[in-house]
Amino acid sequence: MRPYKPKVKAPDPELILKTDHILQQNSVTTVCKESACPNRAECYQRGTATFMILGDTCTRACSFCNVKTGRGLPPDPTEPERIATTIKELELSYVVITSVDRDDLPDYGAKHFESVVLSIRAIVSDVKIELLTPDFKADESALERIIECSVDKLAHNEETVRRLSPSIRSQSNYDRSLQVLKYYSTNFSGPVKSSLMVGLGESKKELIETMKDLLEAGVEELTIGQYLQPSSSHHPVICYYPPEFFEEMETKAVEMGFKAVASGTLVRSSYYADRQSY
Ligand code: SF4
Ligand code: SF4
Repeated sequence: MRPYKPKVKAPDPELILKTDHILQQNSVTTVCKESACPNRAECYQRGTATFMILGDTCTRACSFCNVKTGRGLPPDPTEPERIATTIKELELSYVVITSVDRDDLPDYGAKHFESVVLSIRAIVSDVKIELLTPDFKADESALERIIECSVDKLAHNEETVRRLSPSIRSQSNYDRSLQVLKYYSTNFSGPVKSSLMVGLGESKKELIETMKDLLEAGVEELTIGQYLQPSSSHHPVICYYPPEFFEEMETKAVEMGFKAVASGTLVRSSYYADRQSY
């Protein structure tokens, strides 16, 4: 199949510069800036951003991911307030808080998620918060702490189909991710979301089986996006899908029962996050 080259809206340099300046002043990390996400212009304009907490070093090493692997530093107690201040200064209306995996911490970083939410709530009254969490090794006390944060949405990414999961996310586990999603959907009153990347070698049938598994776990919202290889040492792109494929998957997912679906080449878990809810 010939590669499909997406057309990306040119970023507004002034808005990006202003935003980057405030991020730098407060020393906070966003997935938007670190990954030079092509959706920045749109997301910043819409008052949305995705913050990465708990450092830039992950204890896992997924073959698709560009984050460095190693042992991270202890959680920075000043980070929650710096993130809250940034959200206030940027006048954001919808934020996604995510993190690297911190299997080295006794609570896998769950308490730090809670501290960030408490700090945001203390100084910004009208922002919606979505937590996109690691699996916390399905530790119930960590998951319970996340539920108690009472945010607007919870998300955890399944990323790929069952057959590819061991090679794509070798230290994670397909069924454990479903278990986390099931815990969230059973115990949390708001919507639960998950995301899949395509182009890693999955078949359509496998994708549909994964969608069924997610629905059975209580997931109501789904995003599907094209995997793009960050460097030649990462998992190769096996297939670039054309726009029609994403439209077909979106229609299928809605027919199957998902209440909100975003599917497209550049769709990421946090893309149009503010609009994904039904
Ligand atoms: Fe940031 Fe997500 Fe938007 Fe990209 S899609 S700019 S990571 S909020
Ligand atoms: Fe990247 Fe998340 Fe995998 Fe860590 S667990 S390597 S941050 S995808």
